Amino acid sequence: MGDGNVRNRKYTEILGIKIDALDMASSLEVIEGFIRSRTPHIVVTADSYCVTLAQKDRELREIVNSADLVTPDSAGVLLAARLNGTPFAERVSGVDMLVLLCERASRLGHRVFLLGAAPGVAETAAKNLTKRFPGLKIVGIQHGYFGPDETDAVIKSIRDAQPDLLFVAFGIPMQEKWISKHKDVLQVPVAMGVGGSFDVLSGKVKRAPEWMQRYCLEWVHRLMSNPRKISKVMTLPAFATMALGAAAAKRLGLKPRR
Ligand code: UDP
Repeated sequence: MGDGNVRNRKYTEILGIKIDALDMASSLEVIEGFIRSRTPHIVVTADSYCVTLAQKDRELREIVNSADLVTPDSAGVLLAARLNGTPFAERVSGVDMLVLLCERASRLGHRVFLLGAAPGVAETAAKNLTKRFPGLKIVGIQHGYFGPDETDAVIKSIRDAQPDLLFVAFGIPMQEKWISKHKDVLQVPVAMGVGGSFDVLSGKVKRAPEWMQRYCLEWVHRLMSNPRKISKVMTLPAFATMALGAAAAKRLGLKPRR
C-alpha cells in the first residue's frame, strides 16, 4: 500500500465502512501527496449506494476499507454521520473532486487519463475539461464497453500513457473492483472511481440541482432522468433503516452485529 495507510488517518465509520473525516481541500492535498509518492493509490468516493452494497459484497467492503482515501459522497452518508454524532465537514463528491483535480492538474502539469462511459462520452467530457482548463494534459481516453479480451490492451494503453491521475467511470462496484484488480500492473499514482461523472461533464446527463442534493433528494432527480436507476434507488430505504438502527444502537450503548 502507498503512504495513504501510514499517514495518520481520522475515520468516521458508517455501517462498518471507514470514511476519511476530511473536507474537500484536505482531500485534494492528500491526493497531491499520492501523486508525489509515485506509488499506486486507490481513492473511493462512498455514497449511500456504495455503503449499502458493501454490507453484502465482501470484496467491495475490503477494497473500500483498504483504499488510501475514502470520501463522503452523498447527503445520506452525511446525514448518517451526523446521526452517529460524528459529522463530516462537507460532502466530497467524485464529480467535484474530478473537476478540482483537473484544475490543479492544468496548473501543475499532472497527466490525466479518462477511462469509462459509453463511446464518445469521455471524449466530449475531455473537450469540455480542456476548454475550461487550458493546458490540461489528457493523455488518454478509453470508453468503458470493452470486452475481457481487450483488457490487456487497455491496461497497456494506460501504462504507456503514464498518467498521474486515472479516473474510472464504470459505476460502483465495477470500477472499484477493476481498479483494485489492476492497480499493481497499472502503476498509476492515483486511480479513482467516478461513476457517472463523464456523463455529467459531457452534458449527456444533468446533475441534480444544489437544493435537491442538500435535501437528500438527488435520487428523485436520478430516477426522473433515468428510470432504469430504480434498482439503485431501491437500496436507499435499506441504507436509511440501517443508518437509523446503527445510530439508535449507539445511543443505547449496543454493539453493532458484525
Ligand atoms: N459504464 C461503463 N461500462 C460498463 C457499465 C457502465 O463504462 O460496462 C459506465 C456508464 O456508461 C456510466 C457509468 O459507467 O457512464 C455509470 O454511471 P452511474 O451513474 O450508473 O454510476 P454511479 O455514479 O451511480 O456509480
